[in-house]
Amino acid sequence: MATLGIPANTIAVLQKYNFNFQKKFGQNFLIDTHVLDKIIEESRITKEDFVLEIGPGIGTMTQYLCENAREVAAVEIDKNLIPILADTLSAYDNVEVINDDILKVDINRLAQEKNGGKPIKVVANLPYYITTPIIMGLFESHVPIDSITIMVQKEVADRMQVGPGTKDYGALSLAVQYYAKPEIVANVPPNCFMPRPNVGSAVIRLTRHLEPPVQVEDEKMMFRLIRASFNQRRKTLANGLGNAPDIPLSKEQIQESILELGVPVTIRGEALTLEQFAALSNIVTAKLRKK
Ligand code: SAM
Repeated sequence: MATLGIPANTIAVLQKYNFNFQKKFGQNFLIDTHVLDKIIEESRITKEDFVLEIGPGIGTMTQYLCENAREVAAVEIDKNLIPILADTLSAYDNVEVINDDILKVDINRLAQEKNGGKPIKVVANLPYYITTPIIMGLFESHVPIDSITIMVQKEVADRMQVGPGTKDYGALSLAVQYYAKPEIVANVPPNCFMPRPNVGSAVIRLTRHLEPPVQVEDEKMMFRLIRASFNQRRKTLANGLGNAPDIPLSKEQIQESILELGVPVTIRGEALTLEQFAALSNIVTAKLRKK
């Protein structure tokens, strides 16, 4: 089977199978070999690696992954793509295609079966509407991960990378940076896809921290504080936390906690760094224990 990254070959496959793009699955297939080479290079895959690909489409990137990795599992939701993948990947014996919704797959089990529980690499050109649940699901379920190299909407890649003081800073930035080191490694214009998306894209590599960059006694509490702060972005931190049903502190205790952190009570949550959210979370956890 010829390389699919070349537009004429992709068109030939789509015509052979009379394939109709499904908007609900966010189907935009890569048709640029430079971008494919760059993703492989930046994902730092070697012949030792087991790679999980999310959303292989017609198998364009999967072919590259099979060439470069030890073993590949590719999870694709659209059943109409399964016979196409059987055809485009027929030359490879190191790939398993799984017809399922990635949000329903037990990735911990897959990592155990295919890689003896050792850290896996994830590579994906994601459907944009489920970018956040996929990434958060991978981190929060404590799947053993070495890195995630993903194509996302440019704006979402920016959000993952920024710190306080910019409009893009939010719960996603903090969550990603708690678990991993984010680096945008390529910007990808709409004409590299078929059909063309309406927005620009970027490839971002998230390298899992070996040790978390901050010490948090209760991770769940830190993420509750973060969510409460950004749910009401324009309000002060004190008001945001006061309105959160899952943070059982009185108004006075919230004010005390913020002052203990060493910042003004009028501060907004969007001004706090990850280190400050971690410290605030430890203060709040200690207060709740004393109660
Ligand atoms: N990797 C291919 C490429 O680069 O050309 C296709 C990328 S396309 C943006 C996204 C792919 O993810 C589609 O094939 C789509 O059917 C699949 N997909 C969408 N939602 C999914 C889900 N929940 N689980 C698994 N695959 C999904």
